[in-house]
Amino acid sequence: MNTMTTIPSSTILAVLKRENFTCRRCGAKCPEHLITVDRIFKNDPSVEPGSLTTYCTCCHNEYFTDAPITDSIDEPLERREQFLLLLESLKEKGNFRKDQAKEICEYFNCKLGGSKIPTQKRLDIERSLRAKDAVDVLDTLEDAYYNKVKFVDGIVPPASYAAFIDAIPRYLSTSHQCDLNKQLRIIRGGCSTRLPGYDPIECYRYLLEYKMALESAKYTESEIMKNLVENVSQLDKASHSFDEWKNAMDRHRSQMLSSKLAKH
Ligand SMILES: [Zn+2]
Repeated sequence: MNTMTTIPSSTILAVLKRENFTCRRCGAKCPEHLITVDRIFKNDPSVEPGSLTTYCTCCHNEYFTDAPITDSIDEPLERREQFLLLLESLKEKGNFRKDQAKEICEYFNCKLGGSKIPTQKRLDIERSLRAKDAVDVLDTLEDAYYNKVKFVDGIVPPASYAAFIDAIPRYLSTSHQCDLNKQLRIIRGGCSTRLPGYDPIECYRYLLEYKMALESAKYTESEIMKNLVENVSQLDKASHSFDEWKNAMDRHRSQMLSSKLAKH
């Protein structure tokens, strides 16, 4: 993003919605691409929505050669966060579950590199959106994806793709990880109401990385749940600002990881 004046997140969201999360220049779309909001005219200092438009990273770098967006290792996480905003924005339209199911399939089709989730499974997803929130459904399917899809030399072998597709209804019908994700949302809610300087995207990223770090340190789901309820959900009450909370989270995360190491 250009460095003149920071564009407020509420304006970014309004412009993303106005342009349907699509690059105005080339038509690249979220979730396949990360879409950035920036000035229509390079040197215009205004941050009014009318002076702003959408760019994919490529188009942005081509136009703002002096202030390009560099590739970031966090991009998949940012794309996911942007995709959740897209799913949320669909709720403003009628029959939004059909559109949400379509977008969720598209999200996984992009990850699978050209393979397509079949219509029958899209209908399963649409059905489960009647009972569950879109974030829950996405989290559940991502669990299935990470458990079933194994890349070999950068491509998904057909057997691995089929295992993911087959697992979709089973994952959707159980509350797999649903409680964990719910707990993370409760913590985000606490942070957003209590902490000055709260940034929703950063908070989301912090908690997701925390959960993933614990998972890779071989904490079980129930241990992580217990830790979130008893410890992590207290940290926002003990902090006076979002920065303080992040520091507390960093300390707590190192404690958790080193105590797991000490046991082995
Ligand atoms: Zn573009």
